[in-house]
Amino acid sequence: MTWLQLRPSPPRVTIAMCRRVLPLMLALLSTACARRVLSTTPAATAPVARAATSGAARVSVPTLGPMSGSETVNYILGRGLLLPVAGVVVSQLRDTFDEGRDVGRVHRALDILAPRGTPVLAADDGRVLRVRPNALGGNTVYATDPSGRVVYYYAHLDAYQPGLAEGATIARGDVLGTVGTTGNAPKDTPHLHFQVMSMPADGKYWDGDAINPYPLFLLLHAARP
Ligand SMILES: [Zn+2]
Repeated sequence: MTWLQLRPSPPRVTIAMCRRVLPLMLALLSTACARRVLSTTPAATAPVARAATSGAARVSVPTLGPMSGSETVNYILGRGLLLPVAGVVVSQLRDTFDEGRDVGRVHRALDILAPRGTPVLAADDGRVLRVRPNALGGNTVYATDPSGRVVYYYAHLDAYQPGLAEGATIARGDVLGTVGTTGNAPKDTPHLHFQVMSMPADGKYWDGDAINPYPLFLLLHAARP
C-alpha cells in the first residue's frame, strides 16, 4: 500500500500560547467533565477484540480501557492531533460542534470546508476500524488511536484512498480519501465531517461520547497561522 506521508513537526506549546488558550481549555474541560463518566476498565482485563453489531466491522483493537471525557481530552492533547484536511489551517475553521442539524440532531462534530478532491488525512496514528458508506455520512471511515481509546470518524468523502482497508495500521498524515459531498452533505459545499469520540466501554465505536475537536486544534496549532 502506498501512502502519501505528510508528517508535520510536533506543535510547540509556549507560555504565551497557554495564556491565550487557558480560558478555552477550562471551558472545554468543564464540558468534558459534565459528560457521562465511564467506568475505568483495568488494562489487564480490558477486552482485546470488540464485538460489533450486525453489519459493523469486526476489527480487533488493542485497548487500555475506556476514559472519561476529560481524560480523553488530556490524552488527545498529549498525543497531538493533525488537522485532517490537507492545506487547511486552524484560522479557517469554524466551531460547528453544537449546531443543530435535521430532525433535531445536534452536530457533535467539526465540518472542515475544502475544495472537492482535497486529501483527507489521518488525524492520528492508529488502526482503521471501518471503511463503509452509510446514508448520512456517505463514504465514511472510522479509525482509532493506537491504544483503542479514541475513535475518529471521517465522513462525506468523495473517494477512498485506494487500498484503504479495515484493520489496516495507519500513521498520522496518511491519506484516507478525498473531501466530497457524499451522504447528506449539501452538494455545493464539499467538506469533511470530522468527529472525535471516546471509545465506549461496550465497544460500540460508532456511538461514543463526542469530544469537540475545535478547541483542541486551537490549542495544538496555536503557533501556526
Ligand atoms: Zn458535519
